[in-house]
Amino acid sequence: MKSFYLCSICNLEKSPEYFGKNKKHKIREGLSYKCKSCTQLYLKEYRTKNKEVIAIKKKVAHVANKSENNAKSRSYYAKNRKQLLAKLKEKHKGINRDKINSKRHEAYSPEKKIDKND
Ligand SMILES: [Zn+2]
Repeated sequence: MKSFYLCSICNLEKSPEYFGKNKKHKIREGLSYKCKSCTQLYLKEYRTKNKEVIAIKKKVAHVANKSENNAKSRSYYAKNRKQLLAKLKEKHKGINRDKINSKRHEAYSPEKKIDKND
């Protein structure tokens, strides 16, 4: 491994840790031709330029993987059913604690008893 490699974008010589890995580039011992900062800039530009394309691709992939994802989540649910249900119960309790408490308070409040007796 050389101590410095040339970045094909910024044309600066940088040490190997400034380069990402790319297994295709065997001549460069599996190092990318772009340094990490150039790669980041490139990806950022790519994302802003291709926002819509990326969004569509994501959607398409989501639809294509729907059945697979469903099967995955189903098997996950089957495996972790008890824990998931317990978690859900806890969450439910947390959300409704105030409601339950106020109802309890209402039920045992003396004013209500008086109303009932009337
Ligand atoms: Zn660079």
